[in-house]
Amino acid sequence: MHVLILGGTGEARSLAELLAGQALRVTTSLAGRVAAPRLPPGEVRIGGFGGADGLAAWLREQAVDAVVDATHPFAGTISFNAARAAAATRVPLLALRRPGWVPGEGDDWHEADSLEHAASLLPALGRRVFLTTGRMGLAAFAGLDELWFLVRSVDAPEAPHPARMEVLLDRGPFSLAGERELLRRHRVDVLVTKDSGGAATAPKLTAAREAGVPVVVVRRPGVPEGVTVAEGVEEAARWVAGRGCGA
Ligand code: NAP
Repeated sequence: MHVLILGGTGEARSLAELLAGQALRVTTSLAGRVAAPRLPPGEVRIGGFGGADGLAAWLREQAVDAVVDATHPFAGTISFNAARAAAATRVPLLALRRPGWVPGEGDDWHEADSLEHAASLLPALGRRVFLTTGRMGLAAFAGLDELWFLVRSVDAPEAPHPARMEVLLDRGPFSLAGERELLRRHRVDVLVTKDSGGAATAPKLTAAREAGVPVVVVRRPGVPEGVTVAEGVEEAARWVAGRGCGA
């Protein structure tokens, strides 16, 4: 039995670890965006498939029996391609999606439909921005010359990007103490985040709440229609077992 995990998240790695002890062939696919990715156990392939048709061809060639789309909630293209390829090849597909974050008491959240929408909200909210949406898509913030940005990303961003910015190369998980200190030291007065969900990057939201810092939250794209969703790694492993792949 051959399971393909579309990866690039901690959950994808955890699922590969969970399936590693079983009598399965498990391949994790990574896009190749990160220079030195944390590799999961099992086989790993890196790079795009060439759209939905390329992915469908790969599923056939590699005799894949089940696909788990464990990509980031904001990786909309690959998820859409996976849905099309799975339908074309009749290979069962599961989307593993951690739940989104929910605002709590004391939060000052401003929802945005896109990075461009988030950028348009910023001038009314603050001057010193902690931007945690990743190095892709910085172009949306490039015109905001009157604002200063602290940009946190795994790899260095490329132009176009905001004119006034400091880059912090780091990857989660992040601690609450560390996030509090970042907000204080850089005198951050507004935070921008995608609704990534999960615990690894949630402490920034608590730190923002405590400091009375408003948060612009970019909404997720939806899961493609008709695709079954699991919210956790164990649920995804059970789904794999139910496909006849694994115990
Ligand atoms: P995307 O816009 O959905 O995908 C763009 C293209 O990248 C896809 O069409 C596909 O190329 C290739 N691709 C994406 N994920 C792939 C995978 N797991 N294996 C092989 N090819 C893949 O994705 P993205 O937003 O650029 O994200 C790229 C990767 O980074 C994803 O795997 C995601 O899990 C991870 N990630 C994304 C974010 C985010 O905020 N977007 C955050 C953290 C991690 P082809 O069409 O050629 O197949």
